[in-house]
Amino acid sequence: MSHAHSDQFVPAEDIVQLGHPVLRQEALAVPLEEISSPNIQGIIAHMKKILATQRDGIGLAAPQIGVPLRIFIVSGKVLLPPDERLELTTGKKKKTSAQIPDDLVFINPEITKFSKEKKWMEGEGCLSVRWLYGKVERATKVTLRAYDEHGKPIERGAGGIMAHIFQHEVDHLNGVLFIDRAKDVEELPAEEREAA
Ligand code: ZN
Repeated sequence: MSHAHSDQFVPAEDIVQLGHPVLRQEALAVPLEEISSPNIQGIIAHMKKILATQRDGIGLAAPQIGVPLRIFIVSGKVLLPPDERLELTTGKKKKTSAQIPDDLVFINPEITKFSKEKKWMEGEGCLSVRWLYGKVERATKVTLRAYDEHGKPIERGAGGIMAHIFQHEVDHLNGVLFIDRAKDVEELPAEEREAA
């Protein structure tokens, strides 16, 4: 895997959309000694800020803000009970950021185990592929190895929505988008489009 000095990357102000070449690049590993640098910490902070503007956003990979590095984050909303998460992502309820757990950060992630069991998950979408949704076959459980934002190695088993997000986000770091794997892709009607 190639490494890069990360100071050459300037994050985009908005989430980049399908057609931008960065979404199709193999993202570069973050040198471990750079995780604590103002540069990488700034990129992570920027990712959190952008994700927080997306009501229906539950994960974001660095290429989605124009930075081809192997970093993704998962919204703290995902750690809430499913009914509370749905109320937030569908806009039925608003919570202040103080009531939402911190976002999770994964650097140089690698899925080390996929369950044999797979399932066609409905309604997968992407903040960089507005406004398409489709069914994607995903492993129901995975194990992910990565480093957190302090550079500490972590290993995390996940099922349910977390397993689903891990697979979607690691795909992003390999230049793969859900539409490459999806079937029954549909466009959300204009009147139902509301990101923030
Ligand atoms: Zn995505």
